[in-house]
Amino acid sequence: MGQTTERNAPTFGIIGAGMSGILAAIKLQEAGYGFTVFEKADRLGGTWRDNTYPGLACDVPSHIYSYSFALNPEWSRFASPGSEILEYFERVAKEYGVDDQIRFSDPVVRCTWRDSKDGGDNRWEVETGSGHVETFDFVIAATGILHHPKLPEIEGLESFAGPMFHSARWDHDVALDGKRIGLVGTGSTGVQITGALAPRAEKLSVFQRTAQWVVPVDQVAYSEEEKETFRTDSDALDKLHDELTMAFNDGFGTSILDVDSDMIDGIEARCREELATIDDEELRAKITPTYRAGCKRLVISHNWYEAVQADSVEIVTGADGEIERIEPTGVRTADGRLHEFDVLVMATGFKVDSFMRPMSITGADGADLDEVWAERPSAYMAITLPGFPNFFMLNGPNSPVGNFSLIQTAELQFEYAMDMVERVVSGQLERIQPNEEAAQRFEDERVEAAQNTVWATGCNSWYLDDRGIPFAWPFPFERFRREMAEPRLGDYEGAGV
Ligand code: NAP
Repeated sequence: MGQTTERNAPTFGIIGAGMSGILAAIKLQEAGYGFTVFEKADRLGGTWRDNTYPGLACDVPSHIYSYSFALNPEWSRFASPGSEILEYFERVAKEYGVDDQIRFSDPVVRCTWRDSKDGGDNRWEVETGSGHVETFDFVIAATGILHHPKLPEIEGLESFAGPMFHSARWDHDVALDGKRIGLVGTGSTGVQITGALAPRAEKLSVFQRTAQWVVPVDQVAYSEEEKETFRTDSDALDKLHDELTMAFNDGFGTSILDVDSDMIDGIEARCREELATIDDEELRAKITPTYRAGCKRLVISHNWYEAVQADSVEIVTGADGEIERIEPTGVRTADGRLHEFDVLVMATGFKVDSFMRPMSITGADGADLDEVWAERPSAYMAITLPGFPNFFMLNGPNSPVGNFSLIQTAELQFEYAMDMVERVVSGQLERIQPNEEAAQRFEDERVEAAQNTVWATGCNSWYLDDRGIPFAWPFPFERFRREMAEPRLGDYEGAGV
């Protein structure tokens, strides 16, 4: 396992073979550095491997949900289906020759920094579940955010007698056509499932705790002519990628920092326009949110408004529709009604504060990540950690999130990591370790800015930490780009050595 390395070239342990891990592997291979990719599952693809639910698609335009170095002229749609995205990652990994350098089906359970002052060699020791141990100069954690399914704490959850599963653990052996299906949750996932199952179910009961701003979009397919243009004119493809990046990462990413933004006003107005086309007043009221658009992640859909008006669909919500408990035959709501089902699906989101955990990560001087993150996860510039030398996270805590592509985030973070690694290779730095003061200063500034974002305007969402403070990057995306391009060396221990 691992690549042949140039003499004295650093080596890397990459944890996770999803979008970020594959990116790191390709780039390290190009740089001639040795690496091993550790993947706990038997297939690459991360979230696109785990999620296979009916209706799965990306709500970010495909031409920016692509690596900048592997743009894809073949995308079928403006926002392509999940299976096509998984195929894309598998194809790119194969084309760049990193697919057979992944250690599958063996989770990393422990990473331990062996410091020279304790007799070690200033390297990371990485151990897997099977007992395999390798050492590396650097570790890149590419373990994803939306990775650990979250089941709701509802009384009687386990008592349901029929098939019940989380949206990210879809059981494809379970028949759905003509069945009575209960669906809990109306985030991006629940909305996509609703659109796909409304025409198939005899009855689909959607348990909506909070109404969502659902932005209607057309499911535009690229014509053969357009694809041919993209195949033959790489400039056209690059231009589309750059324009979409500016519109989504910079445009949308920045608008959420201004609670009075015109862009958000426009989005809200577009949603209201669509809501106004619903004749059934009661239904319209049920699905109209009472908080600012953009507070929760915007849900994007081509068929939600049609689906909720289907005869087969019931939106169960409000005080009477609150779920009281789950019983063997269905869901009992606060009004005493028993909603009976053949199948129950939990589209109830993810534990977004786990990141690399539950693996055990021990840094310098015995620093234990579980203890460091006991209150909540955080990271200096969303990428490194005081006390954990030569350790990088891609799409880790405090990274930019929103209705834009996380691929660009990972690419910028990787460039930062390489910039810092080169400083170790050249002898400018002994190790990469931000100091505590810099990390605290960044965290204080981040927390202050986060409280002025649209995410903090009074809704409950996975963007909020345990204090109700948005955990993501709360500055303009342009600042993220700048910070990643120009590391603040003075924030690192031993800088200037
Ligand atoms: P989510 O946005 O966290 O939504 C979870 C849903 O479950 C919410 O409607 C929530 O209600 C509900 N819920 C949770 N606990 C509940 C309980 N005890 N009782 C009743 N309802 C409960 O999760 P998600 O929909 O899986 O989406 C997570 C993220 O994944 C998205 O925001 C997006 O970033 C990503 N995603 C992307 C795509 C894509 O197309 N790219 C597709 C799917 C997902 P409340 O709103 O009241 O909390």
